[in-house]
Amino acid sequence: MQETLFDDQYSNTGQSAPAYGSLEELYQASRNCTRCRLSETRTNYVFGEGNPEARIVVIGEAPGAEEDAEGRPFVGRSGKLLDKILEAIGFSRHDVFICNIVKCRPPQNRNPQADEIEHCLTWLYAQLDLIRPDILLLLGRVAANTILDNNSSMGSMRGRILKWKGYDVVVTYHPAALLRNPNWKYNCWEDVRMLRTHYDTICAENHQ
Ligand code: URA
Repeated sequence: MQETLFDDQYSNTGQSAPAYGSLEELYQASRNCTRCRLSETRTNYVFGEGNPEARIVVIGEAPGAEEDAEGRPFVGRSGKLLDKILEAIGFSRHDVFICNIVKCRPPQNRNPQADEIEHCLTWLYAQLDLIRPDILLLLGRVAANTILDNNSSMGSMRGRILKWKGYDVVVTYHPAALLRNPNWKYNCWEDVRMLRTHYDTICAENHQ
């Protein structure tokens, strides 16, 4: 795992001062986190990666085995599919910022537990405070139910632009779910096309 993830290219454009000066500073402050039991079984802390000035932040659930081994998000089979999903709407993983609700792998890939999520959310919120994206793409119900603080079904959250704390939010299926249920891919395609259209609208407005 590399010691330094980011060039010093962050410029703070947010309204309120973030608690950390840069993503690099936040990474260094969080990489040895022991707030929850997942720190005892992890190989690597998986902070997230991508463009520190991304307009879109992609949020998954938790690192799996490959991510834990490499210290990078979405590098396994789900990650390959995520790359294809992003490519389908004209983005690469370098255009966006990719991270997870929890930064350390839950043993046997079980769902993260409520207290683990609660401890780890502070790191995610600090990431969002620094990046200040326009759009969040939430992959799967764990990410969506956590961020939106609900227990809603995928069917009721996907297919439209939601709002959360000033961010525009798109919810779609987790790539791992798409690998198990390829018949959901069309809905995911609709969701990310909607995201792309919305992103283009925001860009056009910002250039007026
Ligand atoms: N699944 C996730 O939710 N996140 C990863 O980083 C990899 C697989």
